[in-house]
Amino acid sequence: MDETEPPITKPCASCKQMRPLSEFLRRTGRRASAGSRRGACRTCRKARIAKLEPQTIAAQGEKVKTEVEKARQLRTTPHMPTIPLPNDPAALKKTRQGTVWMRGKTDKGRRWYQEIELELAVTLVNEHAAVIVNRHTIRRLFSNKEFRRYILERDNHICYFCGEFGDTIDHMLPRAKGGHTTPLNCVCACNACNQSKADQDLHAFMNNEGPFFKE
Ligand SMILES: [Zn+2]
Ligand SMILES: [Zn+2]
Repeated sequence: MDETEPPITKPCASCKQMRPLSEFLRRTGRRASAGSRRGACRTCRKARIAKLEPQTIAAQGEKVKTEVEKARQLRTTPHMPTIPLPNDPAALKKTRQGTVWMRGKTDKGRRWYQEIELELAVTLVNEHAAVIVNRHTIRRLFSNKEFRRYILERDNHICYFCGEFGDTIDHMLPRAKGGHTTPLNCVCACNACNQSKADQDLHAFMNNEGPFFKE
């Protein structure tokens, strides 16, 4: 072999054995030249990675835990304002007019706005009928038709009271007694159960007449 040709094997920096050049990494940067290789052979590199990995992963896990702990402490530090979660009704504040905006869409998709009491806004968010848009505004999640379909499908058209087929919406706490048209307060009911429940409290039944949504 010509002595000016690069050798086809070289000693490994780690195990000191002669290994084919293809098992070494190419040099990069200032000392790079065609065919020049560096460091440990492939076998030694793999062995080192295998040994290192579990520790490295564990160390990173510890680091993440520490970061989470730090963030937690930061949040509970006194004098730090508590940042409410996106749907925490505590985020809602009255406008200068002393009310909160509620917006929604009609069955036909037309947008509407309405001013409501803060207390009602909080209830609607808590009972999953609305979400917070900003501190002065909530958005009603369902139009009348959408709400009706949502409840009936959620309850599989099964009457909450007797287990038979149902296709009416019953307010557990009647609207006349302060109940609202929300997923939490409404269930699917058959016509008979809806009627007999209403009959038990005629006054409530009379007040439940009229358009479906009436907050
Ligand atoms: Zn080696
Ligand atoms: Zn029933």
